[in-house]
Amino acid sequence: MTPYPTWLATAVLVIAAAVPSAYADDSAGPGPAAHNPHLMGDRYQQASAEVRALQLQAYNVATRRLDQLLADHHGSRQPAVVLDLDETVLDNSPYEAASVLDGFSFPKHWDQWVDAAEAPLIPGARAFLRHADARGVAIFYVSNRSAKQEAATIANLKRDGLPQVSTQSVQLKGPSKKQRRDAIAQHYDILLLVGDTLHDFDAEFAGTSLASQRAAVMRMRHAFGNRFIVLPNASYGNWTKATLHAWQPPAKPAANTAPRKQAPAPHAAN
Ligand SMILES: [Mg+2]
Repeated sequence: MTPYPTWLATAVLVIAAAVPSAYADDSAGPGPAAHNPHLMGDRYQQASAEVRALQLQAYNVATRRLDQLLADHHGSRQPAVVLDLDETVLDNSPYEAASVLDGFSFPKHWDQWVDAAEAPLIPGARAFLRHADARGVAIFYVSNRSAKQEAATIANLKRDGLPQVSTQSVQLKGPSKKQRRDAIAQHYDILLLVGDTLHDFDAEFAGTSLASQRAAVMRMRHAFGNRFIVLPNASYGNWTKATLHAWQPPAKPAANTAPRKQAPAPHAAN
């Protein structure tokens, strides 16, 4: 005999079904979310204190480098910074968490998320951008969000209190990122690029294999932390289906025929 009446068990089930899944259980215990390949990356991206520290570190470096580059800037053209948006300025981890917990994949619901214009800011972004603005630096937001998302994206950036947000500064998908950067560079001196994906920095990283990207990173090693400021993004990228190269543990302990050294005898008390 159950200690609870049947109607109570039914009521609990109905209430549980009515709770939005994002609030119902974010522990990703046994269930579909626990097997989602994005779970650990999304958890690291949204919840880890280390990612927050890395984001602040990136913008601290960006601020220091901008001041150094401005001190060395003697051209007649206005200096500029170019930033990506998603996972660089805007934090889409609530959307990523919903996709894991509710079991859907990008691009499902992406337009609704963008149209809501509720993406919070990446820590450090606003302070850096206000600093750049105060120092007379032109700011360009170069993102591969679609052109139809322009109004919502501008609303999101303005709601978050960012400077120099306009239809001129927010440049969404159409021309490639390289073409947009080149167009900006015709009129401005681009001092810094800030992004979470390598094609935010150089076209050499666009549409190439991971091996080529990794080799190019090594060739451009001196640019990182100097002209290129990289933000962490553990949620998505072209690495998500990469093959892992595993160490093979030996089938049995390696034979070691050398006799163990005898432990030295304890010193005799003199
Ligand atoms: Mg991005």
